[in-house]
Amino acid sequence: MSPASTYRGRLAPSPTGLLHLGHAQTFWMAYQRALQAKGVLVMRNEDLDPQRSKPEFAAAMLEDLRWLGIWWQEGPDVGGLHAPYVQSRRRKFYLDAWRRLVRAGYVYPCRCSRKDLARSAQAPHDEDDEPIYPGTCRPGIGGPQASGEIAVPESPAGLNWRFRVPDGEAITFDDGRLGPQLYIAGDDFGDFLVWRRDDVPAYQLAVVVDDAAMRIIEVVRGADLLRSTARQILIDRALGWEPPAWYHCPLMNDERGQRLAKRHDALSLRALREQGRKPDEIIAMFS
Ligand code: GLU
Repeated sequence: MSPASTYRGRLAPSPTGLLHLGHAQTFWMAYQRALQAKGVLVMRNEDLDPQRSKPEFAAAMLEDLRWLGIWWQEGPDVGGLHAPYVQSRRRKFYLDAWRRLVRAGYVYPCRCSRKDLARSAQAPHDEDDEPIYPGTCRPGIGGPQASGEIAVPESPAGLNWRFRVPDGEAITFDDGRLGPQLYIAGDDFGDFLVWRRDDVPAYQLAVVVDDAAMRIIEVVRGADLLRSTARQILIDRALGWEPPAWYHCPLMNDERGQRLAKRHDALSLRALREQGRKPDEIIAMFS
């Protein structure tokens, strides 16, 4: 018997709208890569944003992906469907990581308001990204080189918490589809949020903690997250974890050349299904 594959991939949709063709293409690729490797695929509901996440979108995304023919293999069986891991129930893991990062000086509190940032932050390099933080609240001394441990408050609530990036350092990785990638910390991206003032863990931290805890071997996701990969490598490194491998999928545009977004309801899987499109026809549209 051949040894069981160690490949573990994940599907990590956010329930903030209906999935569109671009998501479907990415998730289809993730599924194909797990199948080829005879590995396991994990489903993770990334519902941390309390304002934008809706249970009805969470139900729709699972249903639409199953309709398309995508299977995942882990999680308790609920009526023949493996229930996803749910980020909003995993807060204690994110808090542990936040504590470790603060204690070691990688993360600092930030009091800047949205208004302050609008005035002073540099525009991001691409429209999807957050502005480059000007460093207003970055401590002059400290950082991971500082001697001794930094006192950690009881809770992160009420302040933003930012990861201090090593300015000028090249962060490199090999993408499984796009080849070698390089981003310069402090130039391509600045000190980024790991915890929000409204006491919500930021995407960058939650995704790194979960990919490590779920022993993900390869992350397959959209190319809009390439720059985030560089940030996530820094968090992995600070926590002493080996980053996964990366595979970033092409993004899809609409007929006017605009990137598909959740507002493109006409190209949602739901709408295409309702028009009578079959899964095979959808899959044939993927590049
Ligand atoms: N939940 C994120 C999204 O839907 C994707 C996260 C990831 O794949 O790392 O945009």
